[in-house]
Amino acid sequence: MIPFSPPRIDDKIVAEVAAALRSGWITTGPRTKRFEEMLTAYSGAANVLCVSSNSAGMELMLRWYGVGPGDEVIVPAYTYCATANVVVHCGATPVMVDVCEDFNIDVEAVRRALTPRTKVIMPVDLAGFPCDYDALNALVREPEVRRMFSASTEEQRTLGRILILEDAAHSLGARYRGKHIGSTADIVVFSFHAVKNLTTAEGGAICLNLPVPFDNAEVYKKLRTKSLHGQSKDALAKTQIGNWRYDVTEAGFKCNMPDVLAAIGLVELERYDAETLPRRKAIFDAYTAAFSQHDIFQIPTYETAEKASSYHVYPLRIKGITEQQRDKIMQCIFEQEVAVNVHFIPLPMLTAYREQGFRISDYPVTYDNYSREISLPVYFDLTDEQVRQVIRAVLNAV
Ligand SMILES: *Cc1c(COP(=O)(O)O)cnc(C)c1O
Repeated sequence: MIPFSPPRIDDKIVAEVAAALRSGWITTGPRTKRFEEMLTAYSGAANVLCVSSNSAGMELMLRWYGVGPGDEVIVPAYTYCATANVVVHCGATPVMVDVCEDFNIDVEAVRRALTPRTKVIMPVDLAGFPCDYDALNALVREPEVRRMFSASTEEQRTLGRILILEDAAHSLGARYRGKHIGSTADIVVFSFHAVKNLTTAEGGAICLNLPVPFDNAEVYKKLRTKSLHGQSKDALAKTQIGNWRYDVTEAGFKCNMPDVLAAIGLVELERYDAETLPRRKAIFDAYTAAFSQHDIFQIPTYETAEKASSYHVYPLRIKGITEQQRDKIMQCIFEQEVAVNVHFIPLPMLTAYREQGFRISDYPVTYDNYSREISLPVYFDLTDEQVRQVIRAVLNAV
């Protein structure tokens, strides 16, 4: 069986994790710090804070911005549940909008969804392909849109407009107008979950790019404390002689990244541009070369003049089929020993959101994308022969 997206675990990873385990320091410490520094350089963000997951990072930022009951947060209907779940955790209302043919949030639909209660927009770089950040960043700065914004916390007054919180769970290494994803919006949050392009088993990182008068280094410090119970000193600082006394300045959260996991990230990030991305791109290009020869396939957009994907998910679509036919094709691919997937079941089709009154019929492009989509295996260790096997299985099944 060709698996869908196993992590790349080799001797280098095992050695670095073992070194962390033997170092005497296994939770947040020097390795997490070094990983943050590497991510800051790589992403181009002003500051980067590592956390325990993308979900924890996005929720931390919503809470930092003071999002709560009565507030609205705009999310695409086509994403993983985490994007909307964290809004619900804060007691706020997720407002879903439709996406475009490229799977990403429709900026005109965002505009129509704006109300005086809108506090945050959460674009998702689906499959690793960047959203339209020029349009989104311009939208929240329009005088009319600013005037409609009603601030209720100090952070909201300081920003004076809707916050853009980018769900970049898929898009580490993707490019937007020559810049890496990470400096593209006010806040950008990566995921290092086991199935993502770069993994730490579980983990995430928050990139800060807040405009003046915010001091991103100060916000970083505040968030670090917020991610560690609001405790004034972390565990490492407390081990220094005579430095045991601490205070707790707020009832914070517990979502820090341990050094044992950061160790995986250090190895992965060092070889990300040289090895991971080129291999993933080669697999994308091989799929495109094969499937573009048949009119029945709709090839995903993953490179344009302004954008380059991180090649996270290859979302192939088949023209003119129903959801049931798609499911049958997938079954037939599985029977040929190839694991495939669907990214994603749209939020309005999930019980938790259907019960809140969301209807998939309100999101026609989302449904159309979903109903004809099959995600193909893409990962570093997938061989050329396996790529050919995937292609044969798909062609047979269709
Ligand atoms: C994986 C994923 C997340 C959640 O990431 P975690 O690190 O597991 O919290 C959020 N959004 C999208 C689009 C994802 O695919």
